[in-house]
Amino acid sequence: MQQKIILITAPSGAGKTSIVQYLLRQHPNLFAFSVSAATRQPRNNEVNGVDYYFITETEFNQHIQNNDFVEWEMVYQGKYYGTLKSELKRIWAQGKTPILDIDVKGAIHVQQQYAAQCLSIFIQPPSVAALTARLQSRGTETAATLQARIDKASYELTFRNHFNYSVINDVLTTACTQTEALLLQFVK
Ligand code: 5GP
Repeated sequence: MQQKIILITAPSGAGKTSIVQYLLRQHPNLFAFSVSAATRQPRNNEVNGVDYYFITETEFNQHIQNNDFVEWEMVYQGKYYGTLKSELKRIWAQGKTPILDIDVKGAIHVQQQYAAQCLSIFIQPPSVAALTARLQSRGTETAATLQARIDKASYELTFRNHFNYSVINDVLTTACTQTEALLLQFVK
């Protein structure tokens, strides 16, 4: 059997992380979170090795040279994020399917490499205004990073047709159960 991969992608602030957390909570024996490597600073509640492998730019470059990544991107100015091949293997070895919380370009790259193995779901915010409000209420952004995330999100909304399914996150519980149904169908 081919090893499967689940890609959950969305514009920043569309609520995909909440959906991913729901899926992992509901089905800990089926799915595992693919922990990315990242060069940004951890936020207050984030744990190294759980939310991300927080590494330096030098370490990140070493991984690039060693061909350790399935894909990597400079997601925000000067901030690098990447999916390690070792991470997918670690999860497959547990008999589970990795869920990647990944930006739109990264999701397209993984899909190109593992076309037959991927389920890709694009989580769509109901509107750019709703997305702006969500990012503001999260309180993790400065005015400049907020604007950068909104610009990126508006651009990323144009990519939704690249993915297998699109789920609108208007009511979170509904988006969670819709996404869950797609995943269960995929891994059964
Ligand atoms: P944040 O800084 O808010 O944790 O994440 C920023 C963005 O990077 C999110 O859209 C997240 O999905 C994306 N991201 C996280 N890990 C990876 C990865 O390994 N590769 C790519 N391309 N994007 C990622």
